[in-house]
Amino acid sequence: MDRMRELVDLLNRYGHEYYVLDAPTVSDREYDALYDELRALERESGVVLPDSPTRRVGGEPIKAFARHEHIARLYSLDKAVTEDELDAFFTRVEKTVGQVPYTVEYKFDGLTMCLTYENGVFVRATTRGNGAVGEDVTAQVLTIKSYPLSISYKGTLEVKGEAVIRLSVLEEYNKTAAEPLKNARNAAAGAIRNLDPAVTAARRPEILFYDVNYMSEGALFSQREAVEFLRREGFRTFPFLRLCATPEEVKAAIDEIEIERKRIDVLTDGAVVKVDPFSARDELGFTDKFPRWAIAYKFEAEEAVTTVRKVVWQVGRTGKLTPLALVEPVELAGATVRKATLNNLGDIRRKDVRVGSRVLIRRSNEVIPEILGAVEHTGKSMEIAPPAACPYCGAPVKEEGANLFCPNRACEPRIAAQLANFARKDAMDIEGFSEATATQLIRTLGVRHCSDLYFLDAEQLSSLEGWGEKKTQNLLAALERSKTVPLERFLLALGIGGVGKVASRDLAQRFLSVEALAAATEEQLVGMENIGEKTATDIRAWFSDPENAAEVARLFEAGVRPFMPQRQAAGAFAGESVVLTGTLSSMPRSRAQQEIEARGGTCQSAVTSKTTLVVAGEAAGSKLAKAQKLGVKIVGEEEFLRMLGQADA
Ligand SMILES: [Zn+2]
Repeated sequence: MDRMRELVDLLNRYGHEYYVLDAPTVSDREYDALYDELRALERESGVVLPDSPTRRVGGEPIKAFARHEHIARLYSLDKAVTEDELDAFFTRVEKTVGQVPYTVEYKFDGLTMCLTYENGVFVRATTRGNGAVGEDVTAQVLTIKSYPLSISYKGTLEVKGEAVIRLSVLEEYNKTAAEPLKNARNAAAGAIRNLDPAVTAARRPEILFYDVNYMSEGALFSQREAVEFLRREGFRTFPFLRLCATPEEVKAAIDEIEIERKRIDVLTDGAVVKVDPFSARDELGFTDKFPRWAIAYKFEAEEAVTTVRKVVWQVGRTGKLTPLALVEPVELAGATVRKATLNNLGDIRRKDVRVGSRVLIRRSNEVIPEILGAVEHTGKSMEIAPPAACPYCGAPVKEEGANLFCPNRACEPRIAAQLANFARKDAMDIEGFSEATATQLIRTLGVRHCSDLYFLDAEQLSSLEGWGEKKTQNLLAALERSKTVPLERFLLALGIGGVGKVASRDLAQRFLSVEALAAATEEQLVGMENIGEKTATDIRAWFSDPENAAEVARLFEAGVRPFMPQRQAAGAFAGESVVLTGTLSSMPRSRAQQEIEARGGTCQSAVTSKTTLVVAGEAAGSKLAKAQKLGVKIVGEEEFLRMLGQADA
């Protein structure tokens, strides 16, 4: 019996180190050997200690969930979605208790759980349910290991946590699952509320604990003390908990969460703000629905469900046909969404998307949201048939792997996309040149290649509909300016398949000139860190194509001169992560980026906790506000030019 106690304590300690602290001190083999020894002793004696880790297997499937009444009601939180609503909360609190410290924590998007302990032993796990009555999911929760089976506190205790499935775990699960799980929140709820504990175990949920809901004896806790208590007793908590002295500090902490939450492995949908001291909470009390001392600040929804109306196929610059779903308009992250992308035919089949079906869409970093998968089909749902011919030029479509291609090099949207890619800000940076301009020039002036742009004259342009003197001169000036271009941006402008910004930069640094890259062998290319075999083949094929070679020659003939900027590791911006915002009067943003990078700095597109410097020009907006909130160093244009060494003395 002594040995049994010893083994249980030892295994529980190792389990805590592994599952709660992420810091194992023994190998899996050592753990397994001790576990087997304990199992043998239990079988022999017929005794299983109440906190034995062998109880964590969860047992046989159950017929139904028993209802269970919570000892103390599990309140949900009042919500704020705007800063005004948040301010109203602070005003209400301060009217009653004056200025108090607040805590700010992540709000996880999963299933709220309540775990009960009696005499220091885990007895039950329930879902929140309606707050008064939940479902008994003890068998399911026993398969989870992020909490202790025995604790040092001996009174009756109920603790609150959120059951979640880590995004990486979900991804891993979906790689082999017969039925992929679309969304981490539903996956977590489905894992816990499954009658078979084996299913719960297979989906590997965990619980992140954040509050004490009831304790029969002992002093009552502030929020900070409650979380410290949970950590001491061996519950898994999330490391982030910010104590804030003022509403301003609360808002700064919320901003921090809004940025950082994209990087963490758990789905979150907001921040939770609580009055910290217990005495102030007691005074504030509860409404009939919510505590008056806490509020959930919800970020804008990132996912929504809508219906697919139609699918159209767009031709890109490589001739690839990309399906675009037109959907019933739906609100998502503060905008009305009417279109959503599906990557290719393979994607449509894998996600089982049909016209007329309800689908889940998610906001992504791209402008157009992505379809994650079908939620349900209706009687009217129809399979999406791939087109046999290009919808623009009628050429028979070629199928390559999961993709469809229009093989016609003269296909209009294909040329338009090539021109737009060539002109984009981070490529040739031809100001004021849009895809609509491209289409007009193709139709009226017969533009076929990017190099054709440099041979247009004022007479031709000003004859076009909607083109006055000013517009014509602006485009010609922008074209002239674009001729002197850093090599990496020129390579991006060429639009070689698989060669994006990172690859362009690496190729420029490795080969230093277009000629050297054109002569590079596949072996040299594959030898580079960020170039795969497919991209290497594409690069070789692109430069071997006589039409492309002629195009490069014609660009040079037009006066385009790619150059290699001199990098100075110890320049004025060495080690700085810089964000540019607003308009600089002295240079376009792309030029400013290039100047910063030439002096050892790196440029970012958004202000994050890693940002060290913000350059703010005219009419700087939300990025400047965010930088001020995060306390990042900000300089204006004059100071920026001084740092570049260009300002007048
Ligand atoms: Zn076509």
